[in-house]
Amino acid sequence: MNKHYEVIIIGAGPSGLGAALNLLKNGIKDILVIEQKKFPRYKCCAGYITNKTKKEYESLGLNINKCHYSLIKDFSIFYKYQERQKIVNKFLFTNKNIDRVELDNEFFKLAKKKGLEIKENTHIINHNMSKNTIKTNNKEIFAYDYLVFADGTSGYGSKYQKIKRRNMAMQLIQKTNRKDSIEIHFGITPHGYGWVSTYKGLTNIGLTDVYNSKLNYNKIFKDYLKSLNIDGNIKELRGTFTPIGTRKPIINNNIYYVGDAVGACDPLTLSGLKYSLMTAKACAKAISKRNNNIYKQSLLKLKIKFLFMQILLKIFYCKFILFLIFKIGCKFFHRLIAFAFNHFFINKK
Ligand SMILES: Cc1cc2nc3c(=O)[nH]c(=O)nc-3n(C[C@H](O)[C@H](O)[C@H](O)COP(=O)(O)OP(=O)(O)OC[C@H]3O[C@@H](n4cnc5c(N)ncnc54)[C@H](O)[C@@H]3O)c2cc1C
Repeated sequence: MNKHYEVIIIGAGPSGLGAALNLLKNGIKDILVIEQKKFPRYKCCAGYITNKTKKEYESLGLNINKCHYSLIKDFSIFYKYQERQKIVNKFLFTNKNIDRVELDNEFFKLAKKKGLEIKENTHIINHNMSKNTIKTNNKEIFAYDYLVFADGTSGYGSKYQKIKRRNMAMQLIQKTNRKDSIEIHFGITPHGYGWVSTYKGLTNIGLTDVYNSKLNYNKIFKDYLKSLNIDGNIKELRGTFTPIGTRKPIINNNIYYVGDAVGACDPLTLSGLKYSLMTAKACAKAISKRNNNIYKQSLLKLKIKFLFMQILLKIFYCKFILFLIFKIGCKFFHRLIAFAFNHFFINKK
């Protein structure tokens, strides 16, 4: 006999564990989470969180203060390597290791403490949709009533989705002697931005773009490092994809998608943690109440929001608009630009 669970969740990232913790809150305890890696696990991420993201984590019982977040005050926006705008940073927090490892690991420990069954080093190798079963690399077969794909942008579940476009992101973390600061760089990739965050001698350097297979991103990254005067070890460079736009939230009436797997990541800013936790919560509510419409409606709202962000993405990265914002706007309307940046692109995320 195959072992049976009411809910099986694929992926123990923020959306997978968020869904599991919300299900527990709603009274569903018969849950299995499978995760292909072992915690603490690395996740390619700039690692920024806002107060809104913090609140989402805290509502699930995570003591975010344990994760050593702080506010780096020195925050600037650059265009073509020239500083154009200073921002008084009030909303964007980053971890002492300038990454996501500690946050995800504390979340994992919380889930374990609450009694969740999580199988690490385990991934799906087969899924039988008609029998409601999955087979893992350990040759175990598990049956489910509900399956939740929380396995990121390009995980196993993505094979059932139509994916047209994705954002690519790459990053390097290394020691430098730069001062504590956050820099956002525009004008490096055609439809994305670069970041350089430094805290106590550790620097996270990354860039993103709407993926274009014709571009040589390794070369772009090398040029980026050179212009920043950072002698980076390109062998340590790691890359991944983030979604552009939302995907089908439910298939087969009992298979759900959450977090990056459902496209819950802002296509313009790349902030995804808050949306991962929000989709996880709505999905858990729908499963507990046996009402798929709850989740469909919540995803519809997100779809509209992200469609707007996609339109903005197209407009924002027009060369003329970038010129207007950074060469004219930052010179004559710098307070307005700083306000818009702080409130629209950071505080609301
Ligand atoms: C470079 C970069 C920078 C970013 N910066 C920020 C930021 O500063 N702030 C912010 O809010 N968001 C940021 N994001 C977005 C954020 O990282 C994602 O939205 C968020 O991680 C999504 O969470 P998730 O749980 O859906 O997916 P993930 O965090 O990707 O977790 C998916 C989990 O599933 C596991 N998995 C995958 N396949 C399988 C399988 N077959 N079987 C079992 N397990 C599997 C993976 O190992 C992983 O642990 C960034 C993203 C990138 C790429």
